[in-house]
Amino acid sequence: MQSTDSKREKEKRVVAQMIRLFCKRQHHQADLCPDCREVLSYAMDRSDHCPFMESKTFCSSCKVHCYRPEMREKIRDIMRFSGPRMLLYHPALAVSHMLLAVKERMNKT
Ligand SMILES: [Zn+2]
Repeated sequence: MQSTDSKREKEKRVVAQMIRLFCKRQHHQADLCPDCREVLSYAMDRSDHCPFMESKTFCSSCKVHCYRPEMREKIRDIMRFSGPRMLLYHPALAVSHMLLAVKERMNKT
């Protein structure tokens, strides 16, 4: 379905942006460090295989949690750091439902 595909693409784009921003600020890398590169490719892979793309809002708020534990920790740190900053740097990409999902997540933990 076309809308599912575009949702998937959007999610991947936003996640990639967030990981890049996180690495730049936290690890002071011009490009991605090996660690963050691993998270990025993992996240892209998860999005590609997500069977819930149609109904969920965003991977970080997905109830199923297909991320394995250590990756979930990493992506959560990235979301927590980059989520609010996405508004400043990439307002066009910062879709409101995504930020809601991040907030929801932060309140829970
Ligand atoms: Zn990094």
